[in-house]
Amino acid sequence: MPHELLDRARALAGAWLDALPDRHVGPAADDAALRAALDRPLTDAGEDPATVLEDLARDVEPGLVASGGPRYHGFVIGGALPVAMAADWLVSAYDQPAVLHASSPGMAVLEDIAGTWALDVLRLPAGSGVGFVTGAQMANATCLATARNAVLAREGWDARADGLSGAPAVEVLVGDEVHVTVGRALGLIGMGERRVTRVAVDAGGAMDPAALARALDAGSGPSIVCAQAGNVNTGACDPLAAIADACAARGAWLHVDGAFGLWAASAPELAHLVAGHDRADSWAVDCHKWLNVPYDSALAIVRDAAAQARAMGMTAAYLAGSDEREPNAFVPESSRRARAVPVYAALRTLGRDGVAALVDRCCAQARLMARLLAEGGVEVLNDVVLNQVLAGFGDARGVVARVQADGTCWLGGTTWRGRDAMRISFSNWSTTDDDVRASAAAILRAAR
Ligand SMILES: *Cc1c(COP(=O)(O)O)cnc(C)c1O
Repeated sequence: MPHELLDRARALAGAWLDALPDRHVGPAADDAALRAALDRPLTDAGEDPATVLEDLARDVEPGLVASGGPRYHGFVIGGALPVAMAADWLVSAYDQPAVLHASSPGMAVLEDIAGTWALDVLRLPAGSGVGFVTGAQMANATCLATARNAVLAREGWDARADGLSGAPAVEVLVGDEVHVTVGRALGLIGMGERRVTRVAVDAGGAMDPAALARALDAGSGPSIVCAQAGNVNTGACDPLAAIADACAARGAWLHVDGAFGLWAASAPELAHLVAGHDRADSWAVDCHKWLNVPYDSALAIVRDAAAQARAMGMTAAYLAGSDEREPNAFVPESSRRARAVPVYAALRTLGRDGVAALVDRCCAQARLMARLLAEGGVEVLNDVVLNQVLAGFGDARGVVARVQADGTCWLGGTTWRGRDAMRISFSNWSTTDDDVRASAAAILRAAR
């Protein structure tokens, strides 16, 4: 029986994947149609599992977006490498909670190795703590909570035990172009979404390190600087070396939100964009975006692994010098999915060069898109340094809506410097240069 169901799931997944490159990229059904199909009377007796599976796929697929397909350029979403997807199926079959070494020694050891490989590929300090979390927002929350506890510990305050009321004030400094999820993370960990000091940025959205140094000098007491590698609109990366200098001189904790941009460190041609990134104290990076593992997957990395374990861990085993790595020591959760498995499979399959090639190719495709649009008379609003292209039109919203309706590709609108713009992102292993040409042609058609 499980075999039959898994075979059916395999066939349904295969059909979905086969159709992915050619289907209308946006959803085909509206909510009313989806509800009509999916909202059946919940029965007392239950239903046949094969029927549930078949119906589910048939009824929900019209409402899905081909975001894993080659001409999806919305937000920064990323595809799923076949090996990562296949490995993810095994995670469900194994059904191992990655919480304690005792609950699954295999997963604990594999997670340790996948984390070590990720540090290697991202050129981050060996021995850093690596927590496998759901997304960059949660990675930011994990790193920033660790940072908060560490800077308060230096003031003699135990934030984990005693909370924040009565604690010395911690100043958090962010670039004016900080990602919205950093604010959410700060709110979640009790640091106050509104209590941040915003630092001026340049024309591309990258933090001005001189302005940061001045802001740090103006403050007193413990501080945390939250820099960014990869602005969601422009792809710009904060000048991390200069920021690291400013932080080091003033004893500030430096955190880098590198959800997608930190992967530039893996590619020799692009690594200069994030030069100095390895001097930070903590890093948030998504695996479901540019590493192309299935949702959800991100890494919360902290140079001082013991500080991360003190902030997050459930047991003292890690701190006691046990050889057994406790997966829960690096994340805010206890029981959770063994997210390291697809990361392990992706990194091992791609190798260092494969990761670099994936990142390089996406950036080359962004440059190709920018060139094709410019040749078609479209204004490109950003310096295309990474994988993001911002395009301006007389009526950007109208053009975006027409492209979405056309269905050749999908991309979204954004606001940049007070102006409506189209944002086009490249982070999928399966996108070819021909896909870029087809998407560019669709955009130019919609603009005319
Ligand atoms: C996507 C993104 C996030 C949030 O990541 P999730 O994976 O959605 O949690 C945070 N920061 C930046 C710069 C991003 O691009």
